[in-house]
Amino acid sequence: MPIATVNPASGETLKTFDALGAEAIEHRIAAAADRFRQYRLTGFGERARLLRGAADLLERDAPDIARTMTTEMGKPVAQARAEALKCVKAMRWYAERAEALLADEHPAEADVADSGAAHARVRYRPLGVVLAVMPWNFPLWQVVRFAAPALMAGNVGLLKHASNVPQTALYLEELFRGAGYPEGCFQTLLVGSDAIEAILRDSRVAAATLTGSEPAGRSVAAIAGDEIKKTVLELGGSDPYVVMPSADVERAARTAVTARVQNNGQSCIAAKRFIVHEDVYDAFAERFTAGVRELTVGDPLDESTDVGPLSSEQGRADLEELVGDAMSRGATALCGGARPEGYERGWFFTPTVLAGVTDAMRVHTEETFGPVATLYRVSGVEEAIALANATPFGLSSNVWTRDEEEMRRFVRDMEAGGVFFNGMTASHPALPFGGVKRSGYGRELAGHGIKEFCNATTVWLG
Ligand code: NDP
Repeated sequence: MPIATVNPASGETLKTFDALGAEAIEHRIAAAADRFRQYRLTGFGERARLLRGAADLLERDAPDIARTMTTEMGKPVAQARAEALKCVKAMRWYAERAEALLADEHPAEADVADSGAAHARVRYRPLGVVLAVMPWNFPLWQVVRFAAPALMAGNVGLLKHASNVPQTALYLEELFRGAGYPEGCFQTLLVGSDAIEAILRDSRVAAATLTGSEPAGRSVAAIAGDEIKKTVLELGGSDPYVVMPSADVERAARTAVTARVQNNGQSCIAAKRFIVHEDVYDAFAERFTAGVRELTVGDPLDESTDVGPLSSEQGRADLEELVGDAMSRGATALCGGARPEGYERGWFFTPTVLAGVTDAMRVHTEETFGPVATLYRVSGVEEAIALANATPFGLSSNVWTRDEEEMRRFVRDMEAGGVFFNGMTASHPALPFGGVKRSGYGRELAGHGIKEFCNATTVWLG
């Protein structure tokens, strides 16, 4: 992919960038490795001061960087501002909590004695240079939720961002530099994905984290596996959104609209498959479809727009293929199903609700990365759980019910990294985030996330 800003609302190429050459990459890896030797010795107080500084700068820059993000990948600008401010919150959260999250752990005294020690503890030490391969869909948030804990733990970061968000990628490097982080703590590598293998195999790079598609995750994990390096993978999702008879159907339907179309439908944790009990199916389908139909599609820089274009022409083509396949096999579009009229330029797609979906259709098992929902009717909790789990993915899940016994069943049986009741899945610094099955492994955020790139070191004293 060329490294370029191409406005998805117009298809116009606004700015192109040259990929870094081998010498420039070498220079940056060397700077990162050098910096790590000193940065790992800094205290939590100093690291927190730097991260709070970055948070303050980002808060100041939020309106401008939001417009840049919108221009590069098409999300509605109000959502882009909210993303920037969410990053500010996460940075402050980790600045405040990292020391406590990484405090030494003390095994029970009886166990210490049983191990033959007078004293034993676990110390969390940083791993080193971590390569972050990141996607365009939340171009600030995906990076910050890696960088904030990694930097607080004493690691340093190399960012290989998606090729269609180069200006946001360069802004991130500038942000950390502007906050006073020493040279080499956080660097952006403007490179294509073909450069990743050599970087990851470099002995000075300790680990990698990737958010993106399954093929990208598989490739990075295979290389890292060959080099015996730690990875965290956050890949796609096809999250279920189950509505049971005891639910507040009105609220469930209203929330479902946001859960599906936020970020123009391009979110790994978006609810994608709507699994509704037959007792409330008609009421839910009617309200949900009405809500989706009312959405304003348009210029993402316009404050009143709900849904902008897809991030790339290829992204829209992939989505159209999935919808076309479903409709040719008997699915019905309750709304949408095609490009909106009057948009000759840009990669727009009308928000769509598909009913009558069967397992013969690709949408049944593949991720729809755009504003397309699939609706299913089920007759009970068993069938709802079976259908919710009938996917290669396992990122998160949403269930609307007031029945406590049903809640227990869903918590026990959902094959996912999260079960959100009576609301939609959203990430928060204090809650671990990640999936199972083809959605990846490892966790980001909370204490789980900051420990992923730490060496849990046993200190034993005889
Ligand atoms: P990709 O996975 O291709 O891109 C994500 C990142 O991985 C980018 O930095 C990309 O670089 C890099 N990358 C791409 N191919 C490889 C590779 N073989 N080895 C190592 N790194 C690689 O996502 P797309 O933009 O193509 O989106 C395709 C699909 O991925 C979506 O439809 C969706 O299903 C899923 N996706 C999931 C996301 C999530 O949040 N979990 C986010 C984005 C996408 P470059 O840009 O240079 O190609």
